[in-house]
Amino acid sequence: MIIGIDLGTTNSLVAIWQNGQATLIPNSLGEKLTPSVVSVDKDGAILVGQSAKERLISHPEQTASVFKRFMSSQKNFRLGTSHQFSAEELSALVLKSLKADAEAYLGEVVTDAVITVPAYFNDHQRQATKNAAQMAGLTVRRLLNEPTAAAMAYGLHEQNDDCKFLVLDLGGGTFDVTLLELFSGIMEVRASAGDNSLGGEDFTELLIQGFIKQQQDTDAAFWQPYLSLLHGEAEACKRSLTHNKQATMSITIDETLYSWQITDSKFEKLCEPLFQRFRDPIERAIRDAKLRIKSLDEVVLVGGATRMPVFRQLMTRLLGRFPAVNLNPDETIAIGAAIQAGLVAEDAALDEVILTDVAPYSMGVDTTLEIRENQYQHGVFSPIIERNTVIPTSKVHTFYPMQDNQTEVQFNIYQGEARLTRDNIKLGELTVAIPASHRGKARQLPIDVRFSYDVNGLLEVDINLSDSQENYNLLIQNGAKQLSSKEIENSRDKLANLKTHPRDQAQNRSILARAERLYAQRLGFERDQLARLIGWYETVLDSQDPQQIRKANSEISKSLEQFERDDWF
Ligand code: AMP
Repeated sequence: MIIGIDLGTTNSLVAIWQNGQATLIPNSLGEKLTPSVVSVDKDGAILVGQSAKERLISHPEQTASVFKRFMSSQKNFRLGTSHQFSAEELSALVLKSLKADAEAYLGEVVTDAVITVPAYFNDHQRQATKNAAQMAGLTVRRLLNEPTAAAMAYGLHEQNDDCKFLVLDLGGGTFDVTLLELFSGIMEVRASAGDNSLGGEDFTELLIQGFIKQQQDTDAAFWQPYLSLLHGEAEACKRSLTHNKQATMSITIDETLYSWQITDSKFEKLCEPLFQRFRDPIERAIRDAKLRIKSLDEVVLVGGATRMPVFRQLMTRLLGRFPAVNLNPDETIAIGAAIQAGLVAEDAALDEVILTDVAPYSMGVDTTLEIRENQYQHGVFSPIIERNTVIPTSKVHTFYPMQDNQTEVQFNIYQGEARLTRDNIKLGELTVAIPASHRGKARQLPIDVRFSYDVNGLLEVDINLSDSQENYNLLIQNGAKQLSSKEIENSRDKLANLKTHPRDQAQNRSILARAERLYAQRLGFERDQLARLIGWYETVLDSQDPQQIRKANSEISKSLEQFERDDWF
């Protein structure tokens, strides 16, 4: 069985294609959404998902979230004093947890997966995702662009033929725009664009900044220690504004109440700085596909943050139509991943769906341009594969050395859309020696540079000196490289040796983390009550008596619900 995984910035999901349909698999708490959060508890044991998310507020120093934004970066996440992880390793822990959920559900070992990535993920980030899967003991059978997955879920769901979709995917940390066309069972990605540092989190951040600005006699430094508390308030406020005309953020510090009431229209005004950033990739995708907004048949919104009325209103205004929202925006991508997993496993029910995809950005090399005679401009980007070329693709360009006395040529590989390479992302470099036979006439030596881009979005560069039969292959030296089997083994061992709690204790851990989160949020009398409740619950857990624990779980859950309900007054 191949599983389909939506490895999200905020939440992750796992689904399978079974009996002709996609089924979402619940985690050990019975939930379909597993927060992409990892924490280390006081015993040094690893928590993943809801219980880790609760600890974002009570134990921020021991907890990591939103790490998808740092895939392939050198950033290290320090969790407590004893643990340090890369974003790849943290993602591997989330993947391991989803794998375990699928195995518990299916009653069999799972080794293969289709994993979704933002369309705008670059080569390094895609490779980092593959590395994470390997560390989790999963073989990636296909990396699938998230909007493509979402469109597949919609396309199959509605059985629309000859239809042009615009998929707008606003997750916690990424915004992806994809234009797809479905005709005669063939789904073609016509264009994709996006911004991988724009998401629901930015709206939360605006609320945090808005709140701080409103508080008299305090400055940003004052709020520094309370940022994670404020984040929780801002997140709740943002969600509340999805259903209500107004919401309040409030926080009590040293018996002083700081609060801010915000209306939906004030929120809309606050979000204005983000609007242009949404407009740019949408315009770019439509222009690249040589389409007009009017010719779109459907606009599909996916990702939890598209629930926000401010976002929906903006899109309706921008695109002149109401978007389709038939599927749960949190589940659409995972459903698409499961469909793709079914396709990979060659499930007969999906035979007729063929998928084509495009390169989401241009890739090329830096060149020197002769602007006028003897006047040169260096570092000019020369694209070999242009943005939105249908993939897999292989393109070749011929270059010539600039000077006769040159002994070597260095090719720097870049991706991006800027004219000058310094504004693009460098992927790697390759130095080609000019053969001795060409000494003094290097300028006449044609050098063929071939770029091959596969369906997983991985780039291979081959350089061929046509006159001398010499061949070079690209060695990507920057960013995430494919790990050697030894490196994967080391990481896998590191993760396997971490202490984790048994699956059947997941609910207890989650309740404890939730109680501790409430303790961190409250003060005074409520804190005393919570402290007593936590102390009592811990002694029940220590008793290891399943019957007592079950009874305690139900009692404490009721008490915690009461505390949480009071939140809204
Ligand atoms: P994803 O990465 O797709 O899980 O997106 C999660 C993002 O959606 C986060 O930024 C959440 O704050 C946001 N989100 C989820 N539900 C809501 C809601 N009801 N109203 C506003 N934002 C939401």
